[in-house]
Amino acid sequence: MRPFAYQRVTNEAQAVKAASAPGGVFLAGGTTLIDLAKLDVIRPERVIDINPLQGRHGGVSADAAGLRLGALARMSDVAEHPAVLRDYPVIAQSLSLAASQQLRNMASLGGNVLQRTRCSYFRDVTWTACNKRNPGSGCAAMGGNNRNHAVLGVSDQCIASYPGDFAQALTALDAMVELYGPGGARVLPFDQLHALPDAAPHVETALRPGELITGFHVPSAPWARRSLYLKVRDRASYEFAAASAAVALELKDGVVGQARIAVGGVAAKPWRAREAEALLIGKPLTEASAQAAAQAVFAGARTHGHNDFKPELGRRTVVRALLQAAAMEA
Ligand code: SF4
Repeated sequence: MRPFAYQRVTNEAQAVKAASAPGGVFLAGGTTLIDLAKLDVIRPERVIDINPLQGRHGGVSADAAGLRLGALARMSDVAEHPAVLRDYPVIAQSLSLAASQQLRNMASLGGNVLQRTRCSYFRDVTWTACNKRNPGSGCAAMGGNNRNHAVLGVSDQCIASYPGDFAQALTALDAMVELYGPGGARVLPFDQLHALPDAAPHVETALRPGELITGFHVPSAPWARRSLYLKVRDRASYEFAAASAAVALELKDGVVGQARIAVGGVAAKPWRAREAEALLIGKPLTEASAQAAAQAVFAGARTHGHNDFKPELGRRTVVRALLQAAAMEA
């Protein structure tokens, strides 16, 4: 075991100060941190326990403007919240279809969106070639087993897939993420939180040193009630997505007024498909229009052998999700 210091903080300023020095990591639910520390992928020198901030950042509230989710709220509490189930079903489903009940009871929303890739070469430190873990070392996955790797947003440096579910729902619903850092509070469109790998796959987010996620705001919108999360995976009990789609529709007399599509399990970050959405607007939602949108989602897909099946699986997932959303009573 590697030794580390433990510090419990009681306010945001303390948290940020403690995390601003190198080697500091936040502890919320711990379900990702402990996992990666045990694998030796991360080696924290100081673990900063932010759970005492739960009173301010652990709740769920809903009003006419939208939904506010505290970053320290637990996944299971949010998934079962009546307002989330009724008005934002895509959020409830993305949370309840993730991980196991035990993990959902522990894991925080903030930690959930920051979970790291499941690339086996990243998580096994005996593999030296991993640009994400060891910048400049290469990428073992490109010529290795890449069945679970991304086909959208990949680079020549990294093809790792973003593993989460909840982030796709936030992306589809135009959520904002609330941050607190050394410079004070700021708000960012959630779609800008995660970075594409490009030339620097080890830079995964737009977070500044010491910055803490304090919450999420999901704006109220007519399409939020007609929303759903469809997750396709190797086993239904507990597995990461092979492909997933978070969709939301506003229909007027059977014609699409607004559409939102974000896909997961297939992309380097939570992937919003704005061009595909635009194809749907002003048309009836039919199998043909859903197919055209799904084609557009995966128009730029790049595969690497074992994951050649992903664009087709992803297209079918998007089509099914759109048709199911159109059939919802909202
Ligand atoms: Fe590392 Fe990314 Fe390559 Fe996986 S895909 S081995 S995370 S560089």
